[in-house]
Amino acid sequence: MKILTIVGARPQFIKAATVSRVIQQTPGVEEVLIHTGQHFDKNMSDVFFDEMGIPEPEYNLGISSMSHGAMTGRMLEGIEQILLDEKPDWVLVYGDTNSTLAGALAASKLHIKVAHVEAGLRSFNIRMPEEQNRILTDRISTVLFCPTDVAIDNLHSEGYEGLDIRVSKAGDVMYDAALYYGDRAKQPEWISDLNVHNGFALATVHRAENTDNPDRLREIILAINEVHITTPVILPLHPRTKLIIQKLGLHLDVHIVEPVGYLEMVYLLKTCDFVLSDSGGVQKEAYYFKKSCFVLRDETEWTELVEHGANKIVGANRQAIVTAATERVSDIDFSHELYGAGDAANKIVAYLQHYGHVGRAID
Ligand code: UDP
Repeated sequence: MKILTIVGARPQFIKAATVSRVIQQTPGVEEVLIHTGQHFDKNMSDVFFDEMGIPEPEYNLGISSMSHGAMTGRMLEGIEQILLDEKPDWVLVYGDTNSTLAGALAASKLHIKVAHVEAGLRSFNIRMPEEQNRILTDRISTVLFCPTDVAIDNLHSEGYEGLDIRVSKAGDVMYDAALYYGDRAKQPEWISDLNVHNGFALATVHRAENTDNPDRLREIILAINEVHITTPVILPLHPRTKLIIQKLGLHLDVHIVEPVGYLEMVYLLKTCDFVLSDSGGVQKEAYYFKKSCFVLRDETEWTELVEHGANKIVGANRQAIVTAATERVSDIDFSHELYGAGDAANKIVAYLQHYGHVGRAID
């Protein structure tokens, strides 16, 4: 059985690493990897392939740094040709990027079965490119692997039980990753040069709704600078955010570092005091490593973390961010099994293998 995996952005490398490892251990299953090129820097792409044992991509489309429409269109064309040549049994896509949608659409039009990992998530903010990609990808997939009960409920309320689409609760592949790589955390060399011996906060900011809105970005930066006065903040700065900050002439007064590999990221998550982030993945990873996360957005797809009191939505409001970081509580229960048992990748590969050779309608 042949699985053609499509990745392009940092979180997809991490998700695909866990599933690729299981595929490599499963006799009779072959994986062909397409990297669309959406993320390409050494520290946004290569480091994950080098550190996490992801196979070398057979194809790299080199498509990046263009508008959403142009990027998605070019990917669609490039992926279609590869699918015609490779004739896979499954196309496997992850998350909510343009690479996800282009891969699912190219496959669906050729009547190749599509498996979507991290399906069913909704922010209910249709202006987000990620929300558009999720909704469209789910609708044209063959099987949807959901990480949470909330994701399953979202699909039910959209009427998915009446559609010819399988819905499976696999759990979160990023929980698998956190468990596996949690023991392999790597201390960044530069950390001893920073004055963070008495604790620090870990921050990430990259989401378009913040970076593309100067008012929001300014508020977040002012807030992070203010938090840094009492708790040092380490910020691995996303290249896009860096560029926009430079263009706007904003000033970050925290410990700025280059984006780190996943093993160093795990180290930072394990050793920090708390997290400030607009990242989807980091919100959950904070929970996996028993840290509370203040979410720099107005809504989240991971609502269960807010309901259990681990995370708090603070938006892009300077005062709300600073107050939350200052008045954080310590008695959070991190023991709820919200994201499966850490065997999501095994479940996904077993499922794909079971239904590998049947046509698109798998009932
Ligand atoms: N991450 C990383 N290095 C960094 C920042 C993030 O390895 O410098 C990891 C993070 O731990 C998580 C993933 O990248 O697993 C999240 O990616 P990102 O925030 O870019 O995307 P999102 O999850 O919001 O889609």
